[in-house]
Order: sequence, then structure tokens, then C-alpha cells
Amino acid sequence: MAALDPIAALSALYQGVLKKGEPMARHTTFKSGGPCDLYLEPGSLDDLRIAVAFLTQQGVPLTVVGDGTNLLVRDGGIEGAVISLAGLGTAIDEVREGNEIILTVPAGTKTQHLCRLAATRGLSGLSFATGIPGTVGGAMAMNAGTDANGFADIVDGLSVVDISGKTRMVPRNALEIGYRHLAIDGKTRHDNGFPIIVGVRLRLTPGECDTLVSEREALLSRRKASQPVGLASAGCFFKNPPEGPSAGKLIDDLGLKGEAVGGARVSELHANYLINAGGATTADILELAARIKARVKQAHGIELEEEVTLVGRET
Ligand SMILES: Cc1cc2nc3c(=O)[nH]c(=O)nc-3n(C[C@H](O)[C@H](O)[C@H](O)COP(=O)(O)OP(=O)(O)OC[C@H]3O[C@@H](n4cnc5c(N)ncnc54)[C@H](O)[C@@H]3O)c2cc1C
Repeated sequence: MAALDPIAALSALYQGVLKKGEPMARHTTFKSGGPCDLYLEPGSLDDLRIAVAFLTQQGVPLTVVGDGTNLLVRDGGIEGAVISLAGLGTAIDEVREGNEIILTVPAGTKTQHLCRLAATRGLSGLSFATGIPGTVGGAMAMNAGTDANGFADIVDGLSVVDISGKTRMVPRNALEIGYRHLAIDGKTRHDNGFPIIVGVRLRLTPGECDTLVSEREALLSRRKASQPVGLASAGCFFKNPPEGPSAGKLIDDLGLKGEAVGGARVSELHANYLINAGGATTADILELAARIKARVKQAHGIELEEEVTLVGRET
């Protein structure tokens, strides 16, 4: 990629982490995927803005990552620059507005840090997110959630950096929201030019601390018993169809638990979890997913749609 020659120029402008050829298997919970051309962890918001403006000017494609807990990176790696917000601070601001509490949360904050903090401070509204790994920016970009709710239900607005490096606020009423779907200015996480979420404003209500903490513990235990939380995966692989049985039930009823391609396997605990049981390539995972989709389509006429975000170039 000829456009990456000006790395020396970027290094002079920018203070954060900058690596070439970083394996994306290190940055995804699936632990698969080839290297990205450039990997950046900006050390501050200014650093992020400088890097984004520079790279866009050079025509370098940008991909943002949170904790990579929903990402499946192809074995060919990622063209252009991958930007992680891990170094952008986690100071959470709390303001009371009437009977509500507004939290302003940096996008790189771990979702579970936020949930723990909310429960122990007696802030209600985040229980649905108990046990969802990853960052708050990633959770917002996905509208992550459970049957109960999603982040869109509690969002008040976003602070974003667009691909020219400018920061702006996006109010809630300008967001297009759906099931595992968020669009800003008509663009989703799958589109070039989707803005980088750097801060999330959430609207919570006062709650009873002891109740929230015990609810949290019960939800975590339920997750541990029903999902392979310690194994390499990206959570539920497929979205639930709009009607009828869940994707997991459809796959389970076809007897596909334990089905494997190379190192990729359908979890025995939860059939909508595809696992990297050791040494799986992304090609293995995609082949297993394709077989599942074909079986479900053949048996039920239902086209399963991926919930995981697939990125990267073909080998
Ligand atoms: C064991 C396990 C359980 C899970 N359970 C659930 C669950 O119950 N519900 C659920 O919804 N999900 C679940 N997931 C999936 C995943 O954890 C969530 O979707 C999570 O919110 C993704 O956050 P992340 O920071 O890891 O995002 P990433 O995986 O890094 O990124 C996901 C997408 O968001 C984009 N993105 C990330 N950060 C930003 C940003 N700051 N600005 C703009 N775009 C951004 C990325 O480009 C990518 O397209 C689970 C995953 C695992 C491994």
C-alpha cells in the first residue's frame, strides 16, 4: 500500500502507539485473523484527531476496534490503519439532572467496569449489559444488548470524531437505532466513514445499590452456566431471526453442537457460539458458519444473518 510511506511524517506528529503489521489475532477474542498494515493506539483525543486527519488525507482506510469481542478478521488481515481507543482514558463523569443521572463515559471504558460501577453506586438502567464484554464505544456501535434492552435505550448522545478529525456531538434523536444496529448520518459500523465514537452520554435513574449488586451477581452466574464465556469466541455468531425460535435453538435442533471445521467448533453449551477451540483460522470459522447457514436454510427456509462484524481482506 503506497500510501503508508509517510509513516515517518505521522510519527513526528503523533505521540501514541504506532506499529506495522500487528497480528489482529492479538486484538480479537476469536484469536484469529491476519495482520493489519498499521496499528495505532492514540494516547489522547488530540492524538486521535491528528492521526485520523493525517491518515484520511493520505487515503488510508481506517478501522476502529474496541476490545475485538465482536470482530472476525479475515486471514488476509486489514488494509490500512486499525485504531484502538484503549489508551483514551476512563474518567467517568456523573451529573444529576432532576431525577436522572447523566454519565459521560469515554468510549474505551470497559463495559463491565461501567456496569460494576453503576451497580455499586446505585445507578439503575445498565443491568441488561451485565456480562457483555468489550468497550462502551463498541457496545454503542453495535447497539449491544440482551433480550431485555440495548445501549440505544439508555443513550442520550454521542461524542464522535469524524474521518476528517473533527469532533462533534450527535444527539440521541439523530441516531438511527435497531436490533444490533446503529447508524450515524446513514452510515453503520460496516461502512467507510462511520464516525469514531469517543464518548457516550447515558441516562440512568437512581436505584437500590444492594438490589443492583445482587441482580448483577445472579445475571453473571446465569451467563456462566449457559454460555462458554471463558472460550475464544465473539459471543453469539448469528442474529436471532425476527420471528420464531432463536438462532441458537435452530442450530441446536439440527444437532449441530460439536460440529467442527479445523479448529472451529460449535459450542456444546450454546449452539449460537462458534468457538476457536485451538488454531482455528478465520477461514475455518467462516466455513463452519457457511455450513450452519446452509443447514438452517435447507431445514427451515431461514437465512441466518451474522451478528459478528466481519472485516479484512481475502487471502
Ligand atoms: C463471551 C461473549 C459474550 C457476549 N455477549 C453479548 C451479549 O450478550 N450481547 C451483545 O450484544 N453482544 C455480546 N457479545 C459481543 C460483544 O461483546 C459486544 O457486541 C461488544 O459490545 C463489542 O464491543 P467491542 O469493544 O469488543 O467492539 P469490537 O468487537 O472491537 O468492535 C465491534 C464493531 O464496533 C466498531 N467499533 C468499536 N468501537 C468503536 C468506536 N469507538 N467507534 C466506532 N465504531 C466502533 C468496530 O469497528 C466493529 O465494527 C459477546 C461477546 C463475547 C465474546
